[in-house]
Amino acid sequence: MLKKFFSFYKPHKRLFVIDFSSAVIVAILELAFPVAVQWFIDGLLPTGDWNMIVKISILLLLVYMLSTFLNYVVSYLGHKLGINIETDMRQQLFNHVQRQSFRFFDNTKTGHIMSRITNDLFDIGELAHHGPEDLFIAIMTIIGAFTIMFNINPELAIIAIIMVPFLSIVATYGNIMMNRAWKNMYGKIADVNARVEDSVSGVRVVQSFTNEKFEIARFQEDNGQFRLAKLAAYKVMAGTHSSIYMMTRLVTLVVLVVGAWFSFNDKLSYGEFVSFILFVNVLIKPVDKITALLELYPKGMAGFKRFLELIEQEPEIKDRPDAISVSHLNGDITFENVSFRYDEHKSVLEDINLSIKAGETVAFVGPSGAGKTTICSLIPRFYDVNEGAISIDGLNIQDITMNSLRSQIGIVQQDVFLFTGTIRENIAYGKKDATEQEIQDAANKAHLEDFISSLPEGYDTQIGERGLKLSGGQKQRLAIARMFLKNPPILILDEATSALDTETEKIIQKSLMELAENRTTLIIAHRLATIRDADRVIVVTENGIAEDGSYSELVEQDGIFARLHNIQFQEV
Ligand code: ADP
Ligand code: MG
Repeated sequence: MLKKFFSFYKPHKRLFVIDFSSAVIVAILELAFPVAVQWFIDGLLPTGDWNMIVKISILLLLVYMLSTFLNYVVSYLGHKLGINIETDMRQQLFNHVQRQSFRFFDNTKTGHIMSRITNDLFDIGELAHHGPEDLFIAIMTIIGAFTIMFNINPELAIIAIIMVPFLSIVATYGNIMMNRAWKNMYGKIADVNARVEDSVSGVRVVQSFTNEKFEIARFQEDNGQFRLAKLAAYKVMAGTHSSIYMMTRLVTLVVLVVGAWFSFNDKLSYGEFVSFILFVNVLIKPVDKITALLELYPKGMAGFKRFLELIEQEPEIKDRPDAISVSHLNGDITFENVSFRYDEHKSVLEDINLSIKAGETVAFVGPSGAGKTTICSLIPRFYDVNEGAISIDGLNIQDITMNSLRSQIGIVQQDVFLFTGTIRENIAYGKKDATEQEIQDAANKAHLEDFISSLPEGYDTQIGERGLKLSGGQKQRLAIARMFLKNPPILILDEATSALDTETEKIIQKSLMELAENRTTLIIAHRLATIRDADRVIVVTENGIAEDGSYSELVEQDGIFARLHNIQFQEV
């Protein structure tokens, strides 16, 4: 895992080297300071050479300035390194999530994904910056300080260093506990995110059921769990922290007393005594740093582990290495003995055989849950078949790159997903490099021109989050305009007008029929009036394809379709 972690330093090698070497110089200067003080007291003071003292002070000032500058470099560039790595990881995770297949999103809460991309990575930048640097500096300082102290007075040096093994025991124990606590905390904040995501995007449902209190209670529960988890982590942290503090201060005290005693017995000069006290302080610093790392390491690594869990989850549906890119498909679609299930337990499609000619308009009808949407989801490979094969123009769709396959299939669904932004941006989502003229043509074809020109800001009108400021019919028209712009040879209309009132449906129907012209079109519809013009009707039931023929043929057959037909048109 560490190897994977360090691979993220590669693009920022230069930054790392500058930061790291500056930190090393700062540490060396810090080690030199007590030695200089000792020499100042024992060597320089007795001579009474004021000139020399002034010269030394000026030198010291220069060293301080250098050290200040290097400290700035370490702090700024070090954090820059950290934030760069954090940003890289975040981007990589986002890219990875974009590549995931539908089943992944079926099984993963949006809030959990958001959590991994945002919160989980918060501590990684800090760890990336402080981790290797502080650890190295700390070890270097401890060894350096000990060596110098040992040269001055071995007994006292050993007394001072004795805390290190005790510290490591406390630290290791604290580390294990904290690791657990932080991982738990990240899980809880992910739950909080998932809850927020759910009740905010579902707020209209919440309020219409007047379930605000219920949602608040559920959130309170999750939020409380998060609080407990974080509190537990802080408790371990506080315990570790204060034990270490206690030990370091105890050592200072012991060195003070023993040093004084040595000094009385002429075993230690005044300069050496002062230098020793300063060295204990120098020693405390790396210990503090390691303590901080002990907090940071489990925090950052808990996030990194969750990062890896996701990043190592390969997308279920991928291009085959030898997949070909096809620039234009005619749209002859064939299902050959296709079986499909969403999960092990329940088969949704069993041995489906179906052939649709290029340019044909085929309607799918049947009870809800029969598998109509599923059939259509298999064509753009949102899911892969379990058995059998689907081919377009005689090519197995698994041999075509997903990019070229999906770019030739257009889907209009019942609930249109619009992005926050303007009307223009939302239409252009169908073709990102569309010209103004193309966008307007598409809007005209979808009969949107009257609506758009009635808006004070026209194409620049903001449609609100997910198009909330538009009516169902207007949204559907926008989706149709997108499709005109995309202009795919294969079109899937999955209950595109089911949510609309009959009047609006009739109007939209006209645009849809214009859209369907010269394309292979699959229409799923409940209201039979909308499929009157289809070349063919296929009745899908739980047992597969039950009837297949032209509208009038099926009405005459006196089967399922005829029954549906009679029910719907008796009422009118
Ligand atoms: P239709 O479009 O004919 O109403 P669907 O194709 O949506 O039917 O659904 C067919 C069956 O597959 C249903 O039993 C449904 O519960 C199940 N199903 C649909 N989508 C999923 C999914 N993403 N994960 C698991 N099961 C699903
Ligand atoms: Mg459906």
